[in-house]
Amino acid sequence: MFLRDQTKPVRVGPLTIGGSQHVTMQSMTMTKTADVKATVAEIHRLEEAGADLVRVTVNSREAADAIKAIKKEIHIPLVADIHFDHRLALLAIENGVDKVRINPGNIGKRERVEEVVKACKARGVPIRIGVNAGSLERHILERYGYPTAQGMLESALHHIEILESLDFTDIIVSMKASDVNLAIDAYKLAASTFSYPLHLGITESGTLFSGTIKSAAGLGTLLAAGLGNTIRVSLSADPVEEIKVARELLKTFGIISNAVTLVSCPTCGRIDIDLISIANEIEEYVQNIKAPIKVSVLGCAVNGPGEAREADIGIAGARGEGLLFRYGEVVRKVPEHELVSELKREIDTLARRFAET
Ligand code: SF4
Repeated sequence: MFLRDQTKPVRVGPLTIGGSQHVTMQSMTMTKTADVKATVAEIHRLEEAGADLVRVTVNSREAADAIKAIKKEIHIPLVADIHFDHRLALLAIENGVDKVRINPGNIGKRERVEEVVKACKARGVPIRIGVNAGSLERHILERYGYPTAQGMLESALHHIEILESLDFTDIIVSMKASDVNLAIDAYKLAASTFSYPLHLGITESGTLFSGTIKSAAGLGTLLAAGLGNTIRVSLSADPVEEIKVARELLKTFGIISNAVTLVSCPTCGRIDIDLISIANEIEEYVQNIKAPIKVSVLGCAVNGPGEAREADIGIAGARGEGLLFRYGEVVRKVPEHELVSELKREIDTLARRFAET
């Protein structure tokens, strides 16, 4: 099995996907790509949320034309999502896109594939082959009767062979399915067959609630097995939520280290403060802080102090107030209405210190 650090490194603009333990996070815009202003605004929100790269649909000549203007306004690599029309791929590449998602077996005559590959080679643009259980080639579906991991692997190999026959190997592969078990099997099969980096995703996974759980189950299983070089959490929600979920997932597995980890208690009858509001407010606050800080927010003085001492900074509630801990030591008592602001101030101080080191 090719684990994530054993995959081929593939350049995507200034990023490298594959060949290390690093896993990038990506999302896809919901705007009409031809609407440059709206698309750039959405990409800026994704950048702010921590996205490493972003994909836009290129489904028309206007969308392909817009790539040039979008590229000038953004700071992360841009991926063009193309289905079938190789002319749109050529235009997107000419306009400066950093990566193309296209299945070479789906764009018709070999000359078309040759044209796209030639353009990609000339500009150092990699190709992501996107195998999807819901759109497998007819002959594969007929052979197996329904989407299977083996069928998905055959589809991937078919597209890979086309590119390799043109001496093109800057390839990233996804094996998406909305069925979590199928996706896990397909990705594992892919990782045991070829060394191209894997773009992980559970496609059409659902809403913010159910999709987060499905994605965490599927992507978490693969990440824990050491697979996956870039992830996209697909949610029927604001794409910024996809990045938030992706980052939480990577933090959970220790793949991202420069982020704040929040520990909060589940609450019980011993609770002495409004812990749920405090935890939610602090969680929102630390979203974009890039520092390896562990924050603990606990509801009472029974188990609270012990847990809070394990964190860099923490509070343990008491009646109408809280004990503030820093590196295991009680710093002071803080009235409940000042707990959030004090905790934020302490987090900022630690983040500043981290930035200075
Ligand atoms: Fe209950 Fe206190 Fe534990 Fe929170 S820390 S779950 S309030 S005992």
